[in-house]
This record gives sequence, structure tokens and C-alpha cells, in this order.
Amino acid sequence: MRAMILERPGQPLRLVELTTPTPGPGQLLLKVRACAVCRTDLHVVDGELPNSKLPLVPGHEIVGTVVAIGAAASRFQIGDRVGVPWLGWTCGHCRFCQSGRENLCDQARFTGYHIDGGYAEYTVADERYCFPLPPSYSDVEAAPLLCAGLIGYRSLVMAGAGEKLGIYGFGAAAHIVAQVARHQGRRTFAFTRPGDIDAQKFARSLGAVWVGGSDTLPPEELDAAIIFAPAGSLVPQALRGLSKGGMLVCGGIHMSDIPSFPYQLLWGERAVRTVANLTRRDSEEFLELAPRIPVRVSVQPFALCQANDALVALRQGRLRGAAVLTTDADSKPTG
Ligand SMILES: [Zn+2]
Ligand SMILES: [Zn+2]
Repeated sequence: MRAMILERPGQPLRLVELTTPTPGPGQLLLKVRACAVCRTDLHVVDGELPNSKLPLVPGHEIVGTVVAIGAAASRFQIGDRVGVPWLGWTCGHCRFCQSGRENLCDQARFTGYHIDGGYAEYTVADERYCFPLPPSYSDVEAAPLLCAGLIGYRSLVMAGAGEKLGIYGFGAAAHIVAQVARHQGRRTFAFTRPGDIDAQKFARSLGAVWVGGSDTLPPEELDAAIIFAPAGSLVPQALRGLSKGGMLVCGGIHMSDIPSFPYQLLWGERAVRTVANLTRRDSEEFLELAPRIPVRVSVQPFALCQANDALVALRQGRLRGAAVLTTDADSKPTG
């Protein structure tokens, strides 16, 4: 099978021919239909997350069709369409797993990081962490729901029920969260890279009541804010726009250092928290909710062999919505 692999952090991915994996006990072999590209993939490729598998097939927003079933796997049938998210395996018995917080499992293994992911024509996945997908979404539309959607949704839940919601960084996750927030009757204030008029128009089209650069303050104090951009300097900046009792959620897995800031910005029972990974329950809730709203997914498709181009476009903030790799296009391995 063709796959895009990371051999060493900091280097571009390379298109190679690999042996198609065989599903072990409890696993599914999936023919990959689409795999969305996440900001976390960039952190992995850049070596900002330690101890990744190497060589590695990245990608953790996988839509695939079941083509083979390992021993003792019984949840799905050949031909079923399933989604594979970031959470790939948990121990099931640590104190986090035992208390509904499997996202914090000490031994958790993640797709496209510890486990080969979806930048390939085939992948294997533990069936317990796979999900049926809402039929109203095409393969490329469904893929971004699996991380941008899920982590965005978990971030929104963690932000609390406040009506005035700020979103910093208007990428794949934000474009989904904005629609859920509007559905819940909230008002969204979207902060983009300063001067990024296209992103601001995009945010408005998805229901943001106010748009502006991340270097400006909102016109009124916000009840909550979510930071999806990996820039630590946004933490004090977002606190400046938050009302007393407000919640600031950092939704990314990696962020540059947060500069020191006056205690006064946090005083008044403001809080800062992070969102780490996802639970299977988040997946069930969000995948049930998304088609009912319905969340519309903006997608920029790339062929599998163009994964490096997709990562560059993401890094440069040139995407509107989510980049999604598809395995249909013709591309030959380089070795
Ligand atoms: Zn555990
Ligand atoms: Zn992700």
C-alpha cells in the first residue's frame, strides 16, 4: 500500500510502499477513504511532541471501510464505514479510566502518534475505539468531525454555558465549534491572525457576531473563550477580554510558552484550563449532535501524496476549514 511516512521529525513526509497491515485480535483492517489533517499532525512532524513512533504514518481523523476483521472483533461488519479518532487505546483500569476520564489515561496510545494512522491507503484500528459515522456526511466531510469536531466540542463543553464566547484561531476546529455555539444560542466573537480578512469573512459566514484580529479586545467582556491557535501569548491577551468568573480553554495539544502576566488578569475567579484528548463518550455525543444541527464542514481536499502541501497550507493559515487527504488520486511512491 502507499503511505506517507515521517522518518525523522523536522523532515517532510515521504511517499513509500508499505506492506498492508493485517488486523490483530480485536482490530479492523480499514481501506482509508479520507483522512483529515490536524494541527497536532504538524506538532508531531515538527517534533514538538516527544516519543512518537518512528517511522510513523501520521493522521488521526480517519474515515475508512472495513475490509477485514481480526479475531474476536465483532462490533462491525465487512463494508461498514467507520471513523478512527486520536484516542487509539487506553488501559481500562487506571484511576482515570475508572472514573470516566480515559482521555487522561497514563498509558493511552494515540492514532497517528503512537500507532500508525491514516496517511495511507490502509490502516488497522482497535474496534473499541472506532465509530459509525453519520450517513449524511460524505467521507471527506466526515473526517474533520473526528478531531476538529470532537476536540472542538469537548473544548466548548469545558468553556461552560456562557452566552458570549470568544474563539482564537479560526481553523478547522473553530469553524465547527462556531456552528455548535450558534445552535446553542451563544454569540461568538472570532479572533483571527491580525489582518486575515478572508478568515474573518469565513467566521462571519458561520455566524460570528463580531470578528477581529487576535491583537484586539472584544467590544464587550466575554463569558468564555477558547484558544485553538498554538500561541501562548494569546493566554494573557484572551484573559484581558474575559469577564469576572470567565473560563479560558486552551484546546491545543501544544503551545508556545505563556508569557508572565499580572495576577489582576486572572483575579476575579477567571480560570484557565486545557483540554486533553477525548473520550469515547465525547465521540458518541458529538457524532449524534453534528447531523442534527446540522454542522456543515468546509473541506479542502488534497491527494494522499500531497500531504506535505496540506501541512504547509495549514502552517501558513491558508486553509478555510479543514484539509483532507483522499486516496483516490493517482500517485506513485518515490521509494
Ligand atoms: Zn488508563
Ligand atoms: Zn487532531
